[in-house]
Amino acid sequence: MQRHIKVKTDYKHSRGKQPYFAINISTKWALPLAFTILAFALIWRFSSWEQSYDATQDEQQEWVDENQVTLDVALPESEEETLLIQPTTIAENTASLSKEWQSFTIKAGDNLAYYFQEAGLDSKVLQEVLSIKNVSQHLKKIYPGQTLRIQADSNQEFQALQFDVDPLTTLIVERQNGTLISHIEDKPIEKRVAFGGGRIQDSFFVAGKHAKLDDALIMELAKVFAYDIDFALDIKPNDYFKVLFEEYFVNGVKVGNGPIVAAEFVNNGNQYRAIRYTDSNGETSYYSPSGKSLKKAFIRTPVQYTRISSHFNLHRRHPVLHKIRAHKGVDYAAPTGTPVKAAGSGKVVFVGKKGGYGNAIILQHGSKYTTLYGHLSKFSKSLKKGNTIKQGQIIGYVGSTGLASGPHLHFEFRIDGVHHDPLKVALPQADGISGKAKTQFLAYSNNLLRMMDHQAKVVVAAND
Ligand SMILES: [Zn+2]
Repeated sequence: MQRHIKVKTDYKHSRGKQPYFAINISTKWALPLAFTILAFALIWRFSSWEQSYDATQDEQQEWVDENQVTLDVALPESEEETLLIQPTTIAENTASLSKEWQSFTIKAGDNLAYYFQEAGLDSKVLQEVLSIKNVSQHLKKIYPGQTLRIQADSNQEFQALQFDVDPLTTLIVERQNGTLISHIEDKPIEKRVAFGGGRIQDSFFVAGKHAKLDDALIMELAKVFAYDIDFALDIKPNDYFKVLFEEYFVNGVKVGNGPIVAAEFVNNGNQYRAIRYTDSNGETSYYSPSGKSLKKAFIRTPVQYTRISSHFNLHRRHPVLHKIRAHKGVDYAAPTGTPVKAAGSGKVVFVGKKGGYGNAIILQHGSKYTTLYGHLSKFSKSLKKGNTIKQGQIIGYVGSTGLASGPHLHFEFRIDGVHHDPLKVALPQADGISGKAKTQFLAYSNNLLRMMDHQAKVVVAAND
């Protein structure tokens, strides 16, 4: 039986023309469609709010004080630290600090020799610089927009050079006691926590964009709540979201976004909240404010399939044997070589040939659950019995080994040794936070959520 879902979205809240769409899709396309729809929804109207949050504000300070030992959190570095970067400071103040520094922004078509000449140095100096160990690899290729600073003394004698290899890395060459030496300076990254929030009118993607979230953050937000909200089908007008995320700065210039630290999504009146937390094993995941995992212990579909070729059926006529034989799993048809993922974290208890299953893998998850993957064309490199496997890790590839009429993954799900329909079985929640860590988590979580709510109020007030 193929499951079909009919989607009909009627936007009562839109003014003017009412956007309307109806699509008929099978569940297998739900995920890819989710993102496609997000992208195409750009043309619709939106409303949202946004404000950058300066982590040095009092509230942040309070949170830092209360959570000295906490986790992987965006803590602002001290002001002193960000001022450590002497090179740019000197270069940008050539007039007042050092007259000998000259700063150049690389332009297309120009080479290093040109800039050395501009700095009043002869070509021998450049050869000398390039002959220093590890220098030429950074200066071999220069790109428009990169910054080069050269220091020469009043006798036109080369003293030092600074070259910004990338926003985080500077190559430094300087004369010390007459000899030229070089080193790489990594600039300290300053982390700040930023707030973004929006109310969805027509499209989550558009509202996210308006809240100044980049594509990656919008996708990440959808991923954080993916176990609870179907972003292709469930989003309703007036749903809203709040996000605290990290921003990275170098010398006060933003160089990128970090992960989502906390988030809230209100979908159809239901509130979902997530806190990012790294446990004592170093595993980072998202949890509810009470410390429950937002993840399920299993992903329902361990392969990107084209169709379900055979369902769980205890009275099936076997397509190869042509006799009634229980089919205790689901067959996902997919091209040979399609990666197969571990449905849950666990241990490899079998890998090898297994009768009609062909090349098969059995994973044990805790004491109750096992999953089986059959007809594989090959196993993941170095996969061995006893290996510890993480949920989503690629363990093998679709094939048609054993008794198979075509390439597909045969997938079984057992609880206490009893087969269950993988498509219908109630999947257990992944482990939450317990014990000592929980007290710490709750304090941390409360503070983050308070900070997020406070920011949302500030932004709403500013827009009123
Ligand atoms: Zn099968």
